[in-house]
Amino acid sequence: MGLWTRPLPDGPFAGQSLRDLHSGAPRPGVAALARAGAGTSGSSGVVVTDRWGRSATHDAVVVTCQSWLLSARIDTEEQLFDHPTWMAMDRSHYAQSSKTFVMVDRPFWRDRDPVTGRRVLSTTLNRPHDPRHLPARRRRRRRRRARHHLPVLHLERRRPEVAGLSTDERVRLMVRSLGEVYPGVDIASHIVGEPVTVSWESDPNFMGAFRGALPGHYRYQRRLYSHFVRDDLPPAEQGLFLAGDDISFTPGWADGAVTTALNAVWGVVRHLGGSTHPDNPGPGDAFADLAPSTWTPPSPAPP
Ligand SMILES: Cc1cc2nc3c(=O)[nH]c(=O)nc-3n(C[C@H](O)[C@H](O)[C@H](O)COP(=O)(O)OP(=O)(O)OC[C@H]3O[C@@H](n4cnc5c(N)ncnc54)[C@H](O)[C@@H]3O)c2cc1C
Repeated sequence: MGLWTRPLPDGPFAGQSLRDLHSGAPRPGVAALARAGAGTSGSSGVVVTDRWGRSATHDAVVVTCQSWLLSARIDTEEQLFDHPTWMAMDRSHYAQSSKTFVMVDRPFWRDRDPVTGRRVLSTTLNRPHDPRHLPARRRRRRRRRARHHLPVLHLERRRPEVAGLSTDERVRLMVRSLGEVYPGVDIASHIVGEPVTVSWESDPNFMGAFRGALPGHYRYQRRLYSHFVRDDLPPAEQGLFLAGDDISFTPGWADGAVTTALNAVWGVVRHLGGSTHPDNPGPGDAFADLAPSTWTPPSPAPP
């Protein structure tokens, strides 16, 4: 929200925010990506069509959604990427994550156990019986001038077996399992609100929570991460840049989304004919030193 609303400090649009420059709202979701002037071999811009059919041609486009969406939900012209890049996207593996939020009457987890003197409940990583629970989060909501505390029990699971369960069933399952860890706390008696659940793997704008690199996937990850700096791309593949969590080397953490975005910005600047200041080289300028190493399989152990 800060990036969206903060006024730009300098340049031709100084004083205006991205929100101002976009008439107050982002455009609808992208439905199709194609090379402008289909059938021509030159780099003639990328046509972005939104879900209501409006098209606009851009000299450069940065794709920040999960890369599976480029084949599953966005009509992406195949020629925009070469086959090795498509294969690397196809081999991406996404971790599952399902979170359920329940409003409770008060932050009862702060109560002290009269015997131990410790809090009765705290963040709980409950393996292997149940993968993960993160209770005891307190959310603050600013409403008019007063601050209301909104105590929310936050329950998380990273296993597929909850996928078919209703929200109520998820809460029942997780509360029961927390009850095994904290037999003295009647968690259910504190629940006051309708539970809400988010499952990233079944959200149409995501294909899973975040990338989870599997053994043997290093080459694919390197390929996607390094796409921004490739200068061997034919014109038909130029102008499209990948960025975001699932092409980063630290998926599941916002840092990787930010660094890959900076990489893509460097790629866009170069694509549009610009360059970085000589005293402040960008990631692509320093890539020879910073690039992830090229991995070669170890030679087989001698018999
Ligand atoms: C359950 C969970 C817990 C996490 N916990 C942490 C944490 O504790 N710390 C941390 O640092 N990071 C955490 N992360 C990771 C962090 O959320 C990501 O690294 C970060 O959000 C990635 O940013 P991004 O811009 O690459 O992608 P996203 O934030 O995923 O943004 C991609 C956007 O693309 C949009 N989109 C999809 N399809 C289209 C389309 N067709 N047209 C237009 N837009 C589209 C999506 O709606 C989405 O808004 C967590 C992620 C999850 C899922």
